[in-house]
Amino acid sequence: MEIRGVGVIGAGTMGNGVAHVFARCGYSVVLCDVEQRFLDRAVDTIAKNLDREVAKGKITAGDKAAALGRIQPVTDRGKLADCDLVVEAATEKVEVKTEIFRDLDRLTRPEIILASNTSSISITRLAALTQRPEKVIGMHFFNPVPVMKLVEVVRGLATSEETFATVRDLAVKLDKTPVEVNDAPGFVSNRVLMPMLNEAMFAVMEGVATPEAVDEVFKLGMAHPMGPLTLADFIGLDVCLDIMRVMHSGLGDPKYRPCPLLVKMVDAGWLGRKSGRGFYKY
Ligand code: NAD
Repeated sequence: MEIRGVGVIGAGTMGNGVAHVFARCGYSVVLCDVEQRFLDRAVDTIAKNLDREVAKGKITAGDKAAALGRIQPVTDRGKLADCDLVVEAATEKVEVKTEIFRDLDRLTRPEIILASNTSSISITRLAALTQRPEKVIGMHFFNPVPVMKLVEVVRGLATSEETFATVRDLAVKLDKTPVEVNDAPGFVSNRVLMPMLNEAMFAVMEGVATPEAVDEVFKLGMAHPMGPLTLADFIGLDVCLDIMRVMHSGLGDPKYRPCPLLVKMVDAGWLGRKSGRGFYKY
């Protein structure tokens, strides 16, 4: 089946980027979130990010207008019924994704692929909520989506070869580089990255060094483009905490225990860049 129309559920940091990339590559996109204000914010962000691509000469002003014209923002999930593939990029909570996958299975044609951009939740588990587990897969984009090349294509236990091949080829059509991984909490990227960010938070909590000093060590000593605390603020501290919790419970190893400072900051609403305050003020 040719994929022309794509649904994206969740219009936050990742969802707007996923919608941007599909629309820029010629797909029509139905972008769904729970409230109009989240959709307005997403379309605004997409327009600004497309402007940046125009300024860099990557696309023309006409391409930008065409891409924006291909995005239909909706609060009514029923509008996803005609899509040829859906990418779920809603909040990283099992209960949120459970409700969405059950509903998508009911709403969409049985032959279409349901992909999740989850950073850590089991694809196998999401697949088991549906009547089409062989058509459920992880399509894990990276932030900022229009810029980052990687897509982790995550095979659940039941994911079919055909589904895998379709999503792998789709990632290439989006000018991304797919990397195949198997389903496990955190996949590869977050399994390795998040414990490092968490450990950097422990170092700050225990007074080993300031956030600035920890970040400087990684930038100058390990040639990282940004330090771990800047990166955590960029990802969103709530997202980091959710991922650590999924790995902690999924792998059952105390080494994945979320740093208490991270828990406290999320409780305070200090979620990083998106809330104006995290390890740094924005
Ligand atoms: P976010 O908080 O910025 O956005 C989530 C959006 O989902 C919000 O706009 C929220 O209103 C919406 N939402 C919640 N429940 C919904 C529902 N029932 N129906 C429709 N929309 C709903 O989060 P994010 O950073 O964009 O993360 C989204 C997903 O992408 C998560 O699974 C996360 O793990 C994953 N992810 C995040 C990053 C990152 O760097 N932030 C990177 C890769 C993957």
